Amino acid sequence: MKLHEYQARDLLAKYGVPVTGGGVATTPAEARSIAESIGGGVVVKAQVFVGGRGKAGGVKLAATPAEAEQVASQILGMQIKGLTVEKVLVAEAITYQKEIYLSAILDRATKHVMMIASAEGGVEIEEVAKTNPEAIIKIPAHPTLGLQDYQARELAFSIGLTDGKQARQFAQIASALYRTFVASDASLVEINPLVIRDDGSLQALDSKVLLDESALFRHPELAALRDSSDEPEAERVAREADLTFIKLDGNIGCMVNGAGLAMATMDVVKLYGGEPANFLDIGGGANKEKVKTALRIILADPNVKAVMFNIFGGITRVDEVARGIIAALEEVPTNVPLVARLTGTNEAEGLKILAESQLIPATSLAEAAQKAVAAAQATP
Ligand code: GDP
Ligand code: MN
Repeated sequence: MKLHEYQARDLLAKYGVPVTGGGVATTPAEARSIAESIGGGVVVKAQVFVGGRGKAGGVKLAATPAEAEQVASQILGMQIKGLTVEKVLVAEAITYQKEIYLSAILDRATKHVMMIASAEGGVEIEEVAKTNPEAIIKIPAHPTLGLQDYQARELAFSIGLTDGKQARQFAQIASALYRTFVASDASLVEINPLVIRDDGSLQALDSKVLLDESALFRHPELAALRDSSDEPEAERVAREADLTFIKLDGNIGCMVNGAGLAMATMDVVKLYGGEPANFLDIGGGANKEKVKTALRIILADPNVKAVMFNIFGGITRVDEVARGIIAALEEVPTNVPLVARLTGTNEAEGLKILAESQLIPATSLAEAAQKAVAAAQATP
């Protein structure tokens, strides 16, 4: 789950990262009154879930409250990479000498929380990673002791912060960022830019936080920050129904119980020349309601030309799934060909329930995939 910049900023501040003050506005007048309370220059920033807002015109400086109001009226309602700006952060404007990059990510390859820093922060960090990878320093945090002070200082020195006081402040910020990462079960915490102000002190001007969905149940206060405004409808419905759903570009809808089986199903579909339209795991013990919701989600995708059910009844009962399919088809009738391979617990009863329906039966995974691929090709 992504946090907005203002939410990420508040989270980092809680752990001791120096951030800029200010507030969130949904109207130009509100932006003006926040600017008045800050006094002095402000920066007005679009709050949307995409990077590169600066380049797209979503980050603007304003010298006076009246200018803040005017700039906010330009940014609010603007489209950035297909997303409409509904909120802006109005923060104190900072003058600075230099932009630094600092982040923590979960690095699967090394199985460590990796601290990443660069002296070349700012809006071009992806470019730096491509053209000048040596300018990006990585230090893995100790797996049990966490980020050690000497590691944080090493990170500071390696990006050229040799002044003792500055290196110390950088190390404190790196430690605070690391603590934010671990305590929130994040998969990314990033500050870009972290700036060196004219007086030599450091301050975070922009931050980004991604949280691990699977650990959100441990953080109700973070889960409450979710903004579903630009989450695709299908993904929201799936999440609320506790289904694991990922939309893909193909035309064969797949409904499967179990993540491993879903992967195998997609592989076999591809083996026979088809392209899956989605990954969908209805989970173990899926009941009628879940099957119904899953089928609705799949059929709502206009690309879907055939649907393939691959259900292995262990805890999940085949007859229950069959009833779910029939119930769903009563509510969401469709002409899309449906191929079913259902096997396992209560198989005979399940197949009896489906025998009268429009479903095309298959007994093996290979047969089901071949039939689904053929049906998708035959559907206009
Ligand atoms: P992003 O483009 O979505 O990453 O948005 P950022 O918040 O990082 O802003 C982009 C750029 O705007 C930064 O790299 C800075 O150059 C500039 N910027 C942001 N906040 C301030 C500020 O308070 N003062 C000044 N002078 N520039 C800022
Ligand atoms: Mn940025």
